[in-house]
Amino acid sequence: MIALSLAEIAEVVGGQTHDIPDPTVQVTGPVVRDSREAGPGSLFVAFAGERVDGHDFAAAVVEAGAVAVLGTRPVGVPAIVVDDVQAALGALARHVVRRLGATLVALTGSAGKTSTKDLIAQVLQRKAPTVFTPGSLNNEIGLPLTALSATEETRFLVLEMGARGIGHISYLTGLTPPKIGLVLNVGSAHIGEFGGREQIAQAKGELVESLPEDGTAVLNADDPYVRAMASRTKAKVIFFGESDEADVRAENVRLTDTGQPAFRLHTPSGASDVTMRLYGEHHVSNALAAAAVAHELGMSADEIAVALSDAGSLSRWRMEVTERPDGVTVVNDAYNANPESMRAALRALAAIGKGRRTWAVLGKMAELGDEALAEHDAVGRLAVRLNVSKLVAVGGREAAWLQLGAYNEGSWGEESVHVSDAQAAVDLLRSELRPGDVVLVKASRSVGLESVAQALLESG
Ligand code: ATP
Ligand code: MG
Repeated sequence: MIALSLAEIAEVVGGQTHDIPDPTVQVTGPVVRDSREAGPGSLFVAFAGERVDGHDFAAAVVEAGAVAVLGTRPVGVPAIVVDDVQAALGALARHVVRRLGATLVALTGSAGKTSTKDLIAQVLQRKAPTVFTPGSLNNEIGLPLTALSATEETRFLVLEMGARGIGHISYLTGLTPPKIGLVLNVGSAHIGEFGGREQIAQAKGELVESLPEDGTAVLNADDPYVRAMASRTKAKVIFFGESDEADVRAENVRLTDTGQPAFRLHTPSGASDVTMRLYGEHHVSNALAAAAVAHELGMSADEIAVALSDAGSLSRWRMEVTERPDGVTVVNDAYNANPESMRAALRALAAIGKGRRTWAVLGKMAELGDEALAEHDAVGRLAVRLNVSKLVAVGGREAAWLQLGAYNEGSWGEESVHVSDAQAAVDLLRSELRPGDVVLVKASRSVGLESVAQALLESG
């Protein structure tokens, strides 16, 4: 982070200093909440959780080189004491980003935030030093910690913002006000907590409402809820998507023989061909979003296309394709699932496994409400139409619906198996898999199917 003295930090967060012999000593970073990450120059933020109290690690972090603790009580080592640690962390982030010479890019959406954030980072990094959210640390704690990891050299700061309700995004944009705000899509994720899709759109649109007049809203032209957000911002608007009216769009979208998406990228500054290393055609939309941001930050279509074609996966369990020594290929997409990404994953499986035996090991797609039966049925049917060799449906009634779809579409009997849990799926696959087979593993987060993919990779 930008070096700040303890006295300045105390002033910014409105805290009391305790046990600090020299308030001019500087925190040079990083700011950490995990005591194991504390080192020379760092500031340790002590949260009192339900199971662990960060304050208990005060002595240990100072031993490891930390300059001070930010907490809610004196701890016998240098400390800045405040009433509310989260608010203090936010205030510090707000103070620091104002002094950065970096352009802030924020993105939100129901699905694909992390994938897109990782793409944006890999594209912008080619132009200038870029700091971005690690993994999915997109809440009121992860966001300020990420912002505080930027330095004087940082030119682009790319921040994933998650919303669990109305007002969340406004709170986050208040801490780190973006110049560019990107909204990917409004889906059904967390629909229960929000009350409906309108409410989700209301919450996510807070991002574009926060933008300044000289900012840019980057919106998905293919999503009606996102398109409608154009009227909620004073910033300039650019659209991405498959639609012809989009400013940044893809033409001739297809899957290559190896199952990766390829397309011709059009931006207002030109056109160029992209062949992705990532699997799954849902990444086309994510890539267009990244391209729109990069275009806005002055990159040419050629530069963007090269960067998108080189970009890999920086986060776990998203279409990770691994070949075992015995020639079985495991496609681990167990991080999460929704109908769109299920279809994309099945099509990728069909392409990767052309001429080979293919297995779709699938569990439920959560949060679909009234559409759940029809959506699972449709995925089961698609597996048949794509000539997947075997469907292994894992779990309760949603798994039964997947199997029913396969039965209805292709009278599938032996080709599909319904197992109760992940362990049963592993047992079945261990005895059935043959060299050359390709196995896709995918379900919503709550199913935890990554254990299947991991067990298969370990037993190979
Ligand atoms: P989280 O809310 O957990 O942080 P996220 O929005 O960051 O999720 P990702 O982690 O990028 O999303 O992707 C989650 C899952 O959503 C992936 O496993 C993939 O199956 C799917 N996905 C990714 N991009 C898209 C997209 N553009 N449209 C639909 N589904 C997508
Ligand atoms: Mg995420």
